[in-house]
Amino acid sequence: MTSIYRGDYDVVVCGGGTAGTLAAISAARNGAKTLLVEKGSFLGGVSVTGFFPHSFYANSGKKAVGGIPQEIIDELTKLDGTLGHLRYEGGHLYTHTPVDNEILKSVLIQMVVDAGVDLMLNSLIQDISMQGSYIRSLVIRTKAKTFTVNAKTVIDATGDGDVAHMTGAPFNQGRQDGKMQPVTLIMRITNIDWDKLVNGVPTETPILWAEKPRSTAKTPAYFRGILTQWEDTEEYNQLFTDKNHQLFCLSPWATEATVNTTRLIGVDGTDYDDVNTAEIKSRKQVLETYRFLLKYVPGFANSNLVAGHSLGVRETRRFIGDYELTEEDVLAGRKFEDNIGLGAYPIDMHDPNGGNVTFKQIGDDGSYGIPYRCLLPQGVENLLIAGRCLSATHKALASVRSIAACMVMGQATGLAAAMASKDNKTMREVDIKVLQATLREQGAILE
Ligand SMILES: Cc1cc2nc3c(=O)[nH]c(=O)nc-3n(C[C@H](O)[C@H](O)[C@H](O)COP(=O)(O)OP(=O)(O)OC[C@H]3O[C@@H](n4cnc5c(N)ncnc54)[C@H](O)[C@@H]3O)c2cc1C
Repeated sequence: MTSIYRGDYDVVVCGGGTAGTLAAISAARNGAKTLLVEKGSFLGGVSVTGFFPHSFYANSGKKAVGGIPQEIIDELTKLDGTLGHLRYEGGHLYTHTPVDNEILKSVLIQMVVDAGVDLMLNSLIQDISMQGSYIRSLVIRTKAKTFTVNAKTVIDATGDGDVAHMTGAPFNQGRQDGKMQPVTLIMRITNIDWDKLVNGVPTETPILWAEKPRSTAKTPAYFRGILTQWEDTEEYNQLFTDKNHQLFCLSPWATEATVNTTRLIGVDGTDYDDVNTAEIKSRKQVLETYRFLLKYVPGFANSNLVAGHSLGVRETRRFIGDYELTEEDVLAGRKFEDNIGLGAYPIDMHDPNGGNVTFKQIGDDGSYGIPYRCLLPQGVENLLIAGRCLSATHKALASVRSIAACMVMGQATGLAAAMASKDNKTMREVDIKVLQATLREQGAILE
């Protein structure tokens, strides 16, 4: 059978995760012949295997994220796949947006298909060929065969920046001592007795209560328990490296929760051996953590572990762009001439040494600009980076890596790549004013 996935594309999006899925939708909707290449069997990346999108609203109450990210939430709402943007009174975020990961997977794939994107799942970008400072073609490897496609423009949304790395573009990784935030394997646990959990486990943060689909009683949508009372047990000391270990539960369901509490430090997500070992260790950690919850933690005694997603990597390569977003920019809530959208998630630092999780709030109106220049890797003219591989410092990344901000970057890069390929321009020659005006017309929020 002849494959359709050959020939020339205006835009090739590499990685169908959080940023890449939106980049492909945006490029195709703006008239570009678009190919989306994803190494896994579904779309959404860490937005469907990790935790949940937050910060559609800044802490001042201002709406910070619209456009395609909001359209996704609207689609989910029609399908009972989200509780929407729930106001989190007194918490570290203005809103939480619990979503059903499985429904999100289906919504994303349908939106990609409806936009007319050529989609290749189970396909890995293996190599590129360059002419001067331009990527000319990409080699895509599937289990059955290898394809070569030509691209006018390319968006690297692989999380690790695999394509930018293949071009030789410079990058930084980790903080000054090279250490990175820990990796986590998220679990999903069902048959939780919320009353027992809430009454038996202290929390230092407010509980967000919500009515869930097919249930009238209110149960927690966000609960952050502190496991201090079990610090003397052998299991606690084997499992957790910090004191007052936090048990993050987010839940759009009546009796079930997505639980974020496992952690492995010292893992380099770009090193095969490190990742492979971490996958094996984290499966063991998930089982042992679940057994710890069953044995000690009220509310889990009759629960079942229904899923352990795949290893979630918080940070790896950050490519050096024409501008590097800094912690100062984030904390000051700085806005830029070339904003392509806003970030509104606090600096959420999981200690690279295995200590606790800390949050630092954004100043000004609770949002900061994401400059287009942060998406332009050095030395390549037809490549944009989108998602957590953007140009930012280690601390700024701890905010801008959030799902909503990655989605914002996806929408903007898809449009910019479509504009560049249509006008035969480099990514640096894209008219930023036209890009911004079109993004606004398409629902994005830039200020
Ligand atoms: C455990 C964990 C919990 C988190 N919790 C939250 C949270 O509560 N709220 C929040 O806002 N953010 C959270 N984050 C952060 C956020 O989820 C991620 O930073 C963000 O989703 C990353 O998006 P991305 O598009 O850059 O990468 P990803 O979503 O990882 O997408 C990259 C995609 O590229 C594909 N890919 C990689 N290499 C190749 C290749 N060579 N060829 C083809 N495809 C490739 C991958 O399969 C993947 O689908 C969390 C992160 C982790 C790890």
